[in-house]
Amino acid sequence: MDRSLLRSKFRGSMLGTGVGDALGRPVEGCAPRLVEEPPEFDGRYTDDTEMTIGVAESLVEVGGFDGEHMIKTFMRNYDPKRGYGPGPPAVFRLIELGERWDTASMILFGGRGSFGNGAAMRAAPVGLLYFDEPEELRRVAERSSLLTHAHPLGVEGAVIQAYAVALAVKTNPSSFDPRDFLEELESFSREEVYREALRDAARLLNEKADKKKVISRLGNGVEAFRSVPTAVYCFAANAESFEKAVLYAVSLGGDADTIGAMAGAISGAYHGEDKIPVEWVKRLEKAEYIALLADKLLELKLKEK
Ligand SMILES: [Mg+2]
Repeated sequence: MDRSLLRSKFRGSMLGTGVGDALGRPVEGCAPRLVEEPPEFDGRYTDDTEMTIGVAESLVEVGGFDGEHMIKTFMRNYDPKRGYGPGPPAVFRLIELGERWDTASMILFGGRGSFGNGAAMRAAPVGLLYFDEPEELRRVAERSSLLTHAHPLGVEGAVIQAYAVALAVKTNPSSFDPRDFLEELESFSREEVYREALRDAARLLNEKADKKKVISRLGNGVEAFRSVPTAVYCFAANAESFEKAVLYAVSLGGDADTIGAMAGAISGAYHGEDKIPVEWVKRLEKAEYIALLADKLLELKLKEK
């Protein structure tokens, strides 16, 4: 693939995360019936984008994955006003008390670890950097998830989101089949909960299901397995337009910023930067810096070869 197309796709995925997150922020926690009109876009992002920035910064600064460096980067960037869930700040406190980066998150939720979508929501940079190395993608998505989300279903959510971004990078929109896309994700998945949800997503696509049905079957919650397949579906059912995909994602309400961020990451990787409405990118906080991080990830990617 030529370099300028890759650059556009890397930028599209990173900016798409921020745009989808910011679009969903005002309607987070709303019932879907309250999100019939597109929410107002003020460009302010939440923890989803802040942590995605952290993942990208750490991968770029280290030249690959280093767990201790990444958690310290999250801690350096941590702004409590960004709407974090309870997990990451609890892990940060444990690390400050001297807990190891690779065990701190396992202490949460009675020793089971979190299966929230907090690792999946920040997985785009992993999907980009390893887009053509599926084994390495899985390894780094798993390891980077473990920093805060240790439950196998939280981890697998991050793997699937990263792989969806990777597939979207590799896909040429002129020969895209959403069913193949869902099938490939399903066959990559190692957890039956996700395989079942991805098969459900394909059925919903065939049925042209309404929103109510999509939410009841795939979910719009904070659990990774009730939001990652949903975000994947939002992209697959609206692949013709970035704008449509993210507007649809946030219109489902619930964990709208995160589902918007994940659908935006996939859709942005698929379409590239130029297909994201200019007004949104202009207004997005730190858009230039986010695009710069995308460029640095690509530089690192091309240096590897
Ligand atoms: Mg958020």
